[in-house]
Amino acid sequence: MPIFEYHCSKCDKDFEVLVFGKEKVACPTCNGKKVKKLLSTVSYKSDGEFTSSQGSACSGCSATSCSTCGH
Ligand SMILES: [Zn+2]
Repeated sequence: MPIFEYHCSKCDKDFEVLVFGKEKVACPTCNGKKVKKLLSTVSYKSDGEFTSSQGSACSGCSATSCSTCGH
């Protein structure tokens, strides 16, 4: 079953919902419809820690992918 993560802009909370078809998603806390679909997967940890152990992959820039500095 498809589980999607949403963010409610009204009460500033993230929540996961099962979405069936074209069912409208409402926030379970405030029942508001001002929700934004998040692109993160269900396995994503919301504590803000990244799983990358290498840190920056490029010595020329701070980005993890070097699409900006051309390395
Ligand atoms: Zn809400």
